Amino acid sequence: MSMMWLGGLADHSMQASSAASAAQQQVHGVARSVKDLEHHVARLSLLNQALWELLREKLGVTDADLERLASEIDLRDGVQDGCITSGPLQCPRCQRVSNSKHWKCLYCGLEFEKPVMG
Ligand SMILES: [Zn+2]
Repeated sequence: MSMMWLGGLADHSMQASSAASAAQQQVHGVARSVKDLEHHVARLSLLNQALWELLREKLGVTDADLERLASEIDLRDGVQDGCITSGPLQCPRCQRVSNSKHWKCLYCGLEFEKPVMG
């Protein structure tokens, strides 16, 4: 009887340690994804900066031009938050409202005009 009880304890302890190890693996996976994303964002930032400096040099546009256009584009989703977020878009054909992340009307199927980037 007491041997069975001890065996049961050992089972629980093994289950707990395997759950802990699964959780630990999950944490490592998430940490790796975050690191990959950080690297990706840093690379995109570098390319973005290079593109901007190239345009400024070749076309003579200014930082103020960039800021003005960025503010205008930021407001296209109806929220001034410094980035492009998905939001409600009214379909020009059926007038019903879908989320901009789908890039098409969920009711009549009309494809919305997609931005070139993002
Ligand atoms: Zn529609």
